Amino acid sequence: MQVLVVDDNEIDCLTTGSFVEKANMNLLVANDPYSALEIIANQEITPEIIVVDWIMPKMNGLELCQKIRELKFTITPYIIMVTSNSLGENEQNALDVGADDFIEKPIHGAIFISRLRVGARIINLQKKLLSLAHTDELTGLLNRRAAIDACKTHLSRLARTEVPLSHCLIISDIDFFKKINDTYGHEMGDRVLVDVSKRLRNSLRPFETVARFGGEEFLLYCEANEKEIKLILERMRKAICTDPYTLNDVSLNLTMSFGCVVIKQNDTHHDINEFIKTADSLLYEVKNAGRDNFKVATFASMKND
Ligand SMILES: [Mg+2]
Repeated sequence: MQVLVVDDNEIDCLTTGSFVEKANMNLLVANDPYSALEIIANQEITPEIIVVDWIMPKMNGLELCQKIRELKFTITPYIIMVTSNSLGENEQNALDVGADDFIEKPIHGAIFISRLRVGARIINLQKKLLSLAHTDELTGLLNRRAAIDACKTHLSRLARTEVPLSHCLIISDIDFFKKINDTYGHEMGDRVLVDVSKRLRNSLRPFETVARFGGEEFLLYCEANEKEIKLILERMRKAICTDPYTLNDVSLNLTMSFGCVVIKQNDTHHDINEFIKTADSLLYEVKNAGRDNFKVATFASMKND
């Protein structure tokens, strides 16, 4: 758990910081609100719990708290306001501008640590909800929404890269999946989806994306050029069709079809949906040509068609 302590008083900072370390949490320190905002803006280390001193010169804790609440986060930080002012209305003001908790100085170590743990519970709950919202329940892969977010991140990295790389977006689906459900029932259908997901996931590197995009449709995203992706797709096609899928006494073989668009750096300004549409149309061509195959084309060549 990353904890940021913001306090203009260095001794208070040390004391509060020592409690954070005693709670086995990671300590970040800022001696004024401006450096606190810089730390918060840094994408690498996002503080999850922020302990804010109320009385500070230039910008007080209340204003800092308001500023933090105006920012956008994936995980909203838990804010504990700390003050030596014991006027009754302070607590209400602090909570009203967005603090989650309020403690008076001098800080009582054991109670403070317990309150840090309350904050950690709220943060962990947010992480759990976020992961549920991003995950396909059956297969454990990313769901459609998370897949699009992941692709956007990949694309912005491709846009920034200095070496001429290319990325590939693949839409694939299981051939004649409806028949499997109709013939063997949904339990077998689910078994196939889980197994196919594992085989696809194992075909790509961990930082690349494999997502369940729809019913029996998957989105894959990887770093490869046109030549490399053909080898990867052939390996993937074989991984899908070679070993049978079994449940109880039933064992069956299946195949998949893949449409793959190769994205170059100067394509990255296009909307993600354009790449998906292109990959989809290549998949459609594979389906029409008899399935159990893949088709690869560069985005630029498809644009000019
Ligand atoms: Mg102060």
